[in-house]
Amino acid sequence: MVSRTNERGYRLREAREALAAERASAQERLTGLERDFAGMVESSAATNADDEHDPEGATIAFERQHLVALMEQARDRLAAIDAALQRVADGTYGWCEICGRPIAPERLAARPTATRCVGCASRR
Ligand SMILES: [Zn+2]
Repeated sequence: MVSRTNERGYRLREAREALAAERASAQERLTGLERDFAGMVESSAATNADDEHDPEGATIAFERQHLVALMEQARDRLAAIDAALQRVADGTYGWCEICGRPIAPERLAARPTATRCVGCASRR
């Protein structure tokens, strides 16, 4: 276990840095979306739009749903990044959760939150 971690130590450090950077941008994105959402709720409350009958209200409702979906995506992204950081801490990062073989470094570089190797990911 220890030797495995050591031989992969450099890559793990890179992964942690990449994940930390991704986490910061995902958090920033979520904060921005939450701000947009709060602003939208505020302005629609101010105009007292009727979502059912006012066509503008329907547009606002659609945009609000869209924002909610984006916020969910951003939260999922954050959760995936946190899970990946946890795997880095556990020493299980970079190992396929299905076959247990190492995930290709190119794949991890492109997708730092990947939990499966290319073979297992395409075989789902
Ligand atoms: Zn695999």
